[in-house]
This record gives sequence, structure tokens and C-alpha cells, in this order.
Amino acid sequence: MEYLPLFMDIKGKRIIVDGGETVAARRVERALAAGGLVDVFDPDPGDELKALFGHENLTHHARVPVAADFDGCFIAYGASEEPERDQLLAEAGRAAGALVNVADVRRYCDFITPSVVERDPITIAISTGGSAPVIARNLRARIEAMLPDGYGRLADFVARFRQRIADTVDDARGRRRFWENMIEGRAGDLFLAGRPDDARAQIEADLEVAGKAAPVTGEVWLVGAGPGDPDLLTFKALRLMQHADVVLYDRLVGPGILELARRDARRINVGKSPGNHAMTQDEITALLIRLAREGNRVLRLKGGDPFIFGRGGEELEDVARAGIPVQVVPGITAAAGCGACAGIPLTHRDHAQSVVFVTAHGAGGVLGHDWTRLARPGQTVVIYMGLGSLPQITRAALEQGVRPDLPVAVIDNGSRLNQTVLTATLETIETMAEAANLKGPALIVMGDVVTMRDKLGYTGIAEEHPALGIGAGTGL
Ligand code: SAH
Repeated sequence: MEYLPLFMDIKGKRIIVDGGETVAARRVERALAAGGLVDVFDPDPGDELKALFGHENLTHHARVPVAADFDGCFIAYGASEEPERDQLLAEAGRAAGALVNVADVRRYCDFITPSVVERDPITIAISTGGSAPVIARNLRARIEAMLPDGYGRLADFVARFRQRIADTVDDARGRRRFWENMIEGRAGDLFLAGRPDDARAQIEADLEVAGKAAPVTGEVWLVGAGPGDPDLLTFKALRLMQHADVVLYDRLVGPGILELARRDARRINVGKSPGNHAMTQDEITALLIRLAREGNRVLRLKGGDPFIFGRGGEELEDVARAGIPVQVVPGITAAAGCGACAGIPLTHRDHAQSVVFVTAHGAGGVLGHDWTRLARPGQTVVIYMGLGSLPQITRAALEQGVRPDLPVAVIDNGSRLNQTVLTATLETIETMAEAANLKGPALIVMGDVVTMRDKLGYTGIAEEHPALGIGAGTGL
């Protein structure tokens, strides 16, 4: 983190703004809104600034500031765009012990000004550490669009119940849950829909129930995290990630995804890398059950979809048998994600009317599949967990008589920034993959659909990461 985020109390404090145009007017406006006593200096102020004149806490000086003006100054803003004025302001301001900020001159900035979304009393400040203000503005626009106008009023409204909730719900976790249910549940909806009386009645009813309720019981959520790109999470996955008390994840969960979990959620890596089992499946299941029994909302985050080669079915069975409520949230499975992000449609009218997902590995090692049956004309075969045994797979298929020129692709780290796609034939893919020295996770796709990648010239994933809505996106 480049800068420490803070919200400052400047009520009654002296704020100097040097400048007369738009940037100066914005600084003055904000400082006044937060209760500062503002002195603005400019010989020839523009209309935007003049429109603020008359505010009881604003004094205009029709001149450039001098060093003596900075006595007792708390914050000094330079917004004149004149290098000499900027320099004087920075030096005199700092000498007087003020915090200095000169627009667009980093060496004169003791702090930076964030992009702000206001839903009074809620203030959201966004910073990119000064590196890319466009991203901050873009994010601000998204957050603006996401937050209903009534959110600020909702915050005021629910704050009135603070004491009642504290008196009614004893433990901290139960209280947090009550707040979440109140704001995101029916009471919040009613309030935002302009029905405060109904919202109040709903909260009263909820408080009554909470007063009598048994201790909080835990839950387990089996959630698919998709193939890696955080943008490919579902809304539901994201919502549950933001409510979980504990998150259990493994190495298939892509970077950038875990950061979206609630800040204070415990994160446990139960990661299994080949040959290095951090935790056995039984241990993971036992941990899920124990954590839920302790009253936690436990989120088991799995790469792709939990029910496709993810052992989600086994976890569901054991957790449900232990009497713990379970929810399963689907995710984009690697086959679907990699196909789309590599420009390989898994079915196609001309090439494939069916697609099968197979795993190369079973409980006892490499599986002996019937490759002629799987790779029959008109069918795409997607092989999970096959990178390590690619030589055995291709050799077995060739020996069984699958045509050597059958198109084959290997998609490594599909949908992620480091995605690599190799296309070759059954005969040549092994050598090519060996030379590429892929690290996985990787998926193998067999079938004529693989030729579509070159035919379409659509290589799928963008150069820049699409998560912030900049760059070329995924091209879809
Ligand atoms: N439940 C997961 C699959 C788990 S099995 C899902 O639905 O996708 C693990 C295998 O998934 C890996 O060996 C690899 O074959 C595949 N896989 C998962 N993520 C991948 C990715 N981003 N790129 C390529 N293959 C991936």
C-alpha cells in the first residue's frame, strides 16, 4: 500500500486553497462540506469558485498567498497550476506544519485526494496510489451505479437500532449477522423502496425473533470459483465470499480471487499439489464439519465447478450427513472457461455434436480409457488432470487406432493472465508440450473443433486484464 487511508476531522481547522479555477473550487467545496475554515487565494477567481462565495466559513483573498498566511494552517492545497505559487505554497505550508497537496505535482504532495462516492453519511474513497486516476474514476462510476441513492439514508435509519440490537443479541457474531440480514434482507429492501414504516416493523419483528433465537449455527457453502479470472465468478459466489467467516481454498483457486473474500475472514489453504498433500480429503471434510459446528459460515472455495472432478459430491455427502446445512454454488468449469478463453468452441455444427469431460486420473492412477470410443468422429473430448500423463494418453490413443492427425490443444492456465494455448495433432502434441514446459493447471482438448481457433483467428483472452473494464476485454 502506497498511502495510508484516513478520514480526517477538519471541523474548525484552517484550510488554505491557492487557485481560482475548477480544481480549486472542488477543494474549497469539499473542505467546506467537512466543516473546515477555508481561506482561498486568487487575484482573479473563476465562476465556479465565485459561486461558493458567501459561505460563512469561506474567506476570499484577491491576491497570491505569502509565507505568513500559512500560520496555523492545517492543510494547504495548491491548485493554481503556476510553478512559483506551487513552490511557495509547498515550502511555506510545510514550514508552518501544514499537510500539503499540490494538484499533479507529486513531490509537493504529503497526501493524495481520492475519488469519492458520497452517500452521506457514507463516504467511499478510492485511490490507485496516484498511479492511474482513470481507473479510480472508472471504479467510482461503477460504485455510483451500484449503490442506490437511498443507501446513505438507510445507514442513518438503521443506526437508530444500534442500541436495541446490542441489548438484544449477545454475541458479536450474531450481531454482525443481524446487521447483515437487516441491511441486505427484507428490511433494507423495504426502506430502499421508500417504505420506512414497513422496514421498521420488519426490524422489530426480526429483533423479537433474535431475542429468542438459539445460538448461531454454522453452515457450509461449496462454491465454484471458476477457472481463474476473478471476473468469471458468479454474483452468488462473490456475495457468499463476502459473508463467510472462514474460507478453505486450494491451489486451483486463481490469484486475485481470494482477495475478494471478506477482509477479516480466516483463510485456510487446504491446497493439494500433486504428490504433496497438504491435507487429505478426510481431513478437509472433518475441518469443514468442525468449523461449522463452532458456528462459522464456512466457505469451501473450489476451482471451476464443485461438482465436476472437484470431489464436491463427497464433501456434500459427509457434511449433510453431519446435519449441517449446505449450499452448493456452481462455477464455470475449466472446460467451458478454457474453451471460451482459448477460442475453441467445444461443440460446433460442422465438427462436434457432443462433448465429453473425462479425467485422466482415478483413485488408482492413470485411467485406461477407450480412446477410440471417446475420440470418435463428431465428439470433442476434454481431459482434466491430464498434463502430467500426456505421453501415456497420446500413446494409448495412437495404439488403439485413433487417427494421428486428430487436432489436439493444451490450454494451460486458461482464462488467466498467463494463459498458454498449444495446438497440434495427436502425434505432435507431446513434443510440443514438452518444449513449452507448462506448469498447469492444464486441460487437453481433442477433436476437430480445435481447428476453429486458427480459423476464427479469435485467440480469446485479452492482453490486458479485463477485471477493471479497461483494455480490450475478453473480446466477447
Ligand atoms: N472442479 C474443477 C476441476 C478440478 S480437477 C473444474 O470444474 O474446473 C483439476 C483440473 O482442472 C486440472 O488438472 C486441469 O485439468 C483443470 N483446470 C482447472 N482450472 C484450469 C485452468 N484455469 N486452466 C486449465 N485447466 C484447468
